[in-house]
Amino acid sequence: MSSPTLFEQQRVQEPSKDSQAGKILEELRAIRRVGGDWLCAITFQKMFIPTYSQRVRDLRRMGHTIHSRPCNDHEWWDHQHSGQVAMYMYEPPSNLFVMSESK
Ligand SMILES: [Zn+2]
Repeated sequence: MSSPTLFEQQRVQEPSKDSQAGKILEELRAIRRVGGDWLCAITFQKMFIPTYSQRVRDLRRMGHTIHSRPCNDHEWWDHQHSGQVAMYMYEPPSNLFVMSESK
């Protein structure tokens, strides 16, 4: 009786809200809610989560879709970082379903 959409969503696990992974996910969702997309990892460093890349990997293992790419073309943000810092974008589950359908 369950639709494919429900089945797809059941495979995604939610991290504990108080965990570092939960805080990262909340931050990535928050920027999507206000119409943004990419979030520089410097945000996570400021939240005292230096292991953000492992936490993002944890979130992906839980079924969340999070894109990443180097943050180097956002000069107007005036980021105080040099070298390779990643930025991340959360992909909401509805898009995830469409993407997995199309492949
Ligand atoms: Zn940056």
